Amino acid sequence: MVGANIQAAISHLQQGHLVAIPTETVYGLAANAFNPEAVAQIFAVKNRPAFNPLIIHTNNLSRLQEWGLNLPEKMLQLAAHFSPGPLTYVIPKSDVIPDIVTAGTQAVAVRIPNHPLTLDLLSKLDFPLAAPSANPSGYVSPTTAQHVNQQLGHVIPYILDGGACEVGLESTIISFLDHTPTLLRHGGVTLEQIEQVIGKIIDKPGQSGDDILTDNPVAPGQLAKHYATKHLLIHDDPALHFNKFNPLKTAVISFKTIYTQVPPQFQFILSSKGNLAEAAQKLFAVMRLVDTMEVDVILAEKFPDEGLGKAINDRLKRASVI
Ligand code: AMP
Ligand code: MG
Repeated sequence: MVGANIQAAISHLQQGHLVAIPTETVYGLAANAFNPEAVAQIFAVKNRPAFNPLIIHTNNLSRLQEWGLNLPEKMLQLAAHFSPGPLTYVIPKSDVIPDIVTAGTQAVAVRIPNHPLTLDLLSKLDFPLAAPSANPSGYVSPTTAQHVNQQLGHVIPYILDGGACEVGLESTIISFLDHTPTLLRHGGVTLEQIEQVIGKIIDKPGQSGDDILTDNPVAPGQLAKHYATKHLLIHDDPALHFNKFNPLKTAVISFKTIYTQVPPQFQFILSSKGNLAEAAQKLFAVMRLVDTMEVDVILAEKFPDEGLGKAINDRLKRASVI
């Protein structure tokens, strides 16, 4: 069921059920992080590999400390600027966090999401919510309650509808496990913004679980696609590929350029003003929409390699893995 009733969401979560929740990044598939059976359902419903850990969400930093977590100084500096917001911190775990949440590792990822409905929900719970994106593992993340309902509506009891996600891309993940903080995934807070607050960090995307799947498959042949559309997606200059496909069955996702080679209804310009935040906000909804159309291929431009463009390129690159 889709609705905006916080009491219904609370009641389901307290009973160990799953609830989809809105955040500013993407919709999450949430369970009581302290209840291993509830968390196990997240992995089952998403068909998520057990070695890919989950982010836990709460409404303020002091609650993390109450749950025995030590918050590094540089994390606190960043949190003063970006929490609540699209930044996830990886820190040493405490005993109250079940192993299933961290996939057996000694580190936990924590985030304070910036969405009024979900902050209200979190403030009324006496446990954090473990929540990955509310999509089958490997597919594009959902940015509306309807996206969640289309794919998972039949298997989860409640979807809390908080409207369209404002950021539209997953959170940035930064690890504090080593001496110098390390960026594990590009996302809603940019590398430039982080370095303005705490100075140089190590930029090493490819170290979080998502990338373990793409870059280091457990066994040969298990190379998994991520954020993947069902249609073939090519992440490159579209002009180099038009001659290889039937133009009447080719879609283009571009930043601001118009491509007259393909029919107008197959052209998706993410921000005619050239605004990366607007492009990020629209990206996943457009990928889902194109996937419902009768096309053979999606040609997606390379976005400027700066600010949110890095996260957009990361998602498109992983969608293009065959
Ligand atoms: P999702 O919410 O679907 O984007 O998935 C959560 C992301 O956080 C995945 O990329 C996980 O690999 C990453 N993550 C969660 N916990 C940890 C952790 N302890 N260390 C590193 N990455 C993590
Ligand atoms: Mg995900």
